Amino acid sequence: MILKKKVPLIDQHDKYGFWGGKFGGSYIPETLKKPIDDLTISFNKLRKNKIFLKKKNFYFKNYIGTPTRFIKLENLSEHLGGAQIWAKVVSDANGGAHKIYNATVHALICKSMGKKYIVGDTGAGYAGKMLSMAAKKFGLKCKIFMGAKDIKRQKPNCDAMRKNGAEIIPVTTGSQTLVDAVSECMRYWVSNCDTTHMCVGSTVGPNIFVKICGWSTSQISKELKIQIKNEFKKIPNKIKLINCVGGGSSAYGFWSEFIDFPKKQIELIGVEAGGPKKSKLHAAPLSKGAKLGVLHGAASYVCQNLEGQINETESISAGLDYPGVSPIHCFLKDTKRAIYTYATDEEALKAYKLVTKFESLNPSLEPSHAFAEAIKISPKLTRDTIVIVNSCGDAKKDRDILKMRLKTI
Ligand SMILES: *Cc1c(COP(=O)(O)O)cnc(C)c1O
Repeated sequence: MILKKKVPLIDQHDKYGFWGGKFGGSYIPETLKKPIDDLTISFNKLRKNKIFLKKKNFYFKNYIGTPTRFIKLENLSEHLGGAQIWAKVVSDANGGAHKIYNATVHALICKSMGKKYIVGDTGAGYAGKMLSMAAKKFGLKCKIFMGAKDIKRQKPNCDAMRKNGAEIIPVTTGSQTLVDAVSECMRYWVSNCDTTHMCVGSTVGPNIFVKICGWSTSQISKELKIQIKNEFKKIPNKIKLINCVGGGSSAYGFWSEFIDFPKKQIELIGVEAGGPKKSKLHAAPLSKGAKLGVLHGAASYVCQNLEGQINETESISAGLDYPGVSPIHCFLKDTKRAIYTYATDEEALKAYKLVTKFESLNPSLEPSHAFAEAIKISPKLTRDTIVIVNSCGDAKKDRDILKMRLKTI
């Protein structure tokens, strides 16, 4: 398995949609083939269309609020006494996280395809919330499929979706969580694809959704590359780019412009959710050696039991609590271009505490996993090493859980 140079990783799949011959693909019912083929043709045209690109850039700047900041965490670096630690503050984006990039692009695609309705699935509710925001902005009617169990657990996000005018469809089949919401959403899409577009909230799902999402979040590394050059006058020799990995959309977006660099110069480190220290449960398929499986229409490493049933996952961070991972990250793991590790709930909480003690930055629990790794490795490194963490979410959404758990840490 080899990585090609000068071809975006989202395009390095074979004609069947697999990266490295085995990750990804489109495991879909026959009835979904037509809407997926139509979407593929439309996206491939739009991504080369100057008017569409101009529109995308306009809304990225004027609606999402890009470029986001690239800042030095001087106090934290001083305290740890090793590498320089920097942050790309993607949580500056509208809505407080990177999911808005993908949601905005899907809303623009929906409009360009002449459709007035957009549907999506959501687990913890953030993907649904961001999609409802984008739908409202672009005047689209929005339905969010969500497991009945998740609706009960995620009230604030449900309230936000309804406030944005979205209709939440409770899914009462199976485990009544994300897995079933995805199936129901796809079923709905099959029957309504003439008027309706579907959005998948991360670099997961059938091949085309991985590509659209990766294309959207790559904005992050495009900005970062310019910001690094402005700051250091060149791309320095020792850089480590650290990102949390749930589905993997923020990590792909943070890394995409740097994958062609030698790994000695730019190291890519993905941090998964290790779950509570004392629990066997986690959401870390890459770093804990999960086997290849099929989940949500694609082949990837999936947390599963010996029979291939999807394992229950556990993490303090709702955004990372997902049993699968993007096929793109499976490929980066197998080619050894990126390395993957995990942080436990406790390590993420401690990292949150330390970062907020020294800096005026409020990273949510997902990027706190990435900060945990930065804090672990930085003291052993020299001052000329540039550690950059993608601070991809704002902790406002984690207020209640932080209040409860910080007492015990
Ligand atoms: C959803 C979410 C994630 C996990 O998704 P990825 O696709 O891995 O980026 C990470 N951080 C935040 C803030 C999120 O909302």
